[in-house]
Amino acid sequence: MTKYTIRKTDINKALKQADIICKRNGLRLTKLRQDVLSLILKEGGYVKAYDLLDELKKIDPSAKPPTIYRTLDFLLEHGFIHKLQSLNAFIGCSHPQDHKECYFLICNNCQKIEECCSKKINNVIKNTTSKNNFVPDQAVLEIAGTCQQCLN
Ligand SMILES: [Zn+2]
Ligand SMILES: [Zn+2]
Repeated sequence: MTKYTIRKTDINKALKQADIICKRNGLRLTKLRQDVLSLILKEGGYVKAYDLLDELKKIDPSAKPPTIYRTLDFLLEHGFIHKLQSLNAFIGCSHPQDHKECYFLICNNCQKIEECCSKKINNVIKNTTSKNNFVPDQAVLEIAGTCQQCLN
């Protein structure tokens, strides 16, 4: 199992990587997309769409809800951020396109989120769904509990 956390030092790396990925795939990382991505990464944790909109308005006062949702869709589609379904919030990915599936450990106490990847879990999901003749588009796995720090 590989465990990932987004550190402040990873923000610039993640932004640079997003730029490289976009160039490679002929996508446009517009200023708006870059601004929203860096706002999410700066958060260091999860962030709600309306909080993002408030932050974005400080940069661009004309920003409206569709602005933020369209931008989030782009960032989600290309794996730069993830959506936490149980919290209806977004979190940055420090290693975009390294992985397709991942899961999240959510601390109920300090709200810290750990992004984890496990090939084993992915394989179990793949095997189980194919046994049921089902083709998954995406699997959401969010585990709520208590993190190491809060246990101590
Ligand atoms: Zn990720
Ligand atoms: Zn905690």
